[in-house]
Amino acid sequence: MTDKPTSCLDPFEADAISVADARQTIYEQITPISGSVKVALRDALNQYLAEDLISSIDVPPHTNAAMDGYALAGSDLPSENSNTYKVVGSSFAGVPSDEKYIKGCVVRIMTGAVMPSGTDSVVPQEVVDILDDGSIRIDSEQRTGQNVRHPGEDIPKGATVLKKGHQINAADLGIIASLGKGEVKVFRRPRVAFFSTGDELKSIGETLNEGDIYDSNRYTLFALLKNLDVEIIDLGVIRDTKADIKEAFVSAAELADIVITSGGVSVGEADFIKPTLKKLGDTHFWKIAMKPGRPLTFGSYHGSWFFGLPGNPVAVMVTFMQFVQPAINYLASGSIKPALIIKARCQQAIKKRPGRTEYIRAIVEQTEDGELTVKLTGKQGSGILMSMSLANCFIHLNSESSGVESGALVEIVPFNGVI
Ligand code: AMP
Ligand code: MG
Repeated sequence: MTDKPTSCLDPFEADAISVADARQTIYEQITPISGSVKVALRDALNQYLAEDLISSIDVPPHTNAAMDGYALAGSDLPSENSNTYKVVGSSFAGVPSDEKYIKGCVVRIMTGAVMPSGTDSVVPQEVVDILDDGSIRIDSEQRTGQNVRHPGEDIPKGATVLKKGHQINAADLGIIASLGKGEVKVFRRPRVAFFSTGDELKSIGETLNEGDIYDSNRYTLFALLKNLDVEIIDLGVIRDTKADIKEAFVSAAELADIVITSGGVSVGEADFIKPTLKKLGDTHFWKIAMKPGRPLTFGSYHGSWFFGLPGNPVAVMVTFMQFVQPAINYLASGSIKPALIIKARCQQAIKKRPGRTEYIRAIVEQTEDGELTVKLTGKQGSGILMSMSLANCFIHLNSESSGVESGALVEIVPFNGVI
């Protein structure tokens, strides 16, 4: 249930572009970061590799035991009944045997210990009988080569372990450490600056006068950016004057790859975002056929990309997740991550007119028999942040949809770490 790219001739609003076209435009305009930096291994978590990572050693480096037991040559194993063996020496992890292995005997061995030369099989300690004189008895169930790990079995020397552009995850940190590397070359992080606009906005600690509200968008934007591991530059609240907004635009572009604002993108008399962008650079689109989030301006100026998000708190979050987040991911990684399409059974009917995409705040849950069900969080006004706080997904109704009947399968877009 993805949105088909459409022309600007949308029945809802002739000059609004579709969600799919908007995303396509963003990918066409953004040039991924090419600058790289060397960082300490722990700091590389979630960053994107700027070069292929080639292994300079075999992992594991030595032939070693996969279990605690007794090492011997497989040719000495009994083909029928059982044999008894004298235990000569021991090999511990990190402390190889210093005695020479004698054919017809066994060496006591621990998991991870180097296999003594001449041995190729490990008989687990659980399956041997220990006799009174300290020798052991092994039955004919054992096989040559069993319970042994070979050099390079995990990563052979010279192998391309991780490719340029790969996002480093927890397992990768372990892999890179197993190669003995303490530093990695990653692309530098995107720098993202943002500010709120509005004469009614007060910062925390200030007194609210008649008509004022506290600025909440800078906090949701901070949180959303924090999850993306970017450099965050908070430029505060900017007053609704042409001069202030222009000055903020110019200093933001000096600091950041991506500049985000909230508010002031409609056509009100104090909405100076669009004219300022027009003066300084190019506007690629300014209206999307979606709800919430219709007035969304995307452009470029002074070498930065600009997202003018709507002022309403929910519209800020929806447009960030649907457009800014993919833009940042593309800027950081140079690749487009296709979203998983997840369906859930809708617990209630939803009314909708065709012609625009809707993102509806909802809660997805799993029933005892494993089915995903979804229900709305309540009032869907774009100023009602509480229903966003309760939600763990959006129900995504595409432009063509003319509503949903109770019990129908709908596409959901999870967030807040649901998957
Ligand atoms: P605007 O697009 O500037 O007309 O703003 C639309 C609505 O969002 C108005 O009700 C604003 O008061 C509200 N709004 C704008 N910016 C913020 C903000 N930073 N925090 C909370 N509400 C805001
Ligand atoms: Mg405003």
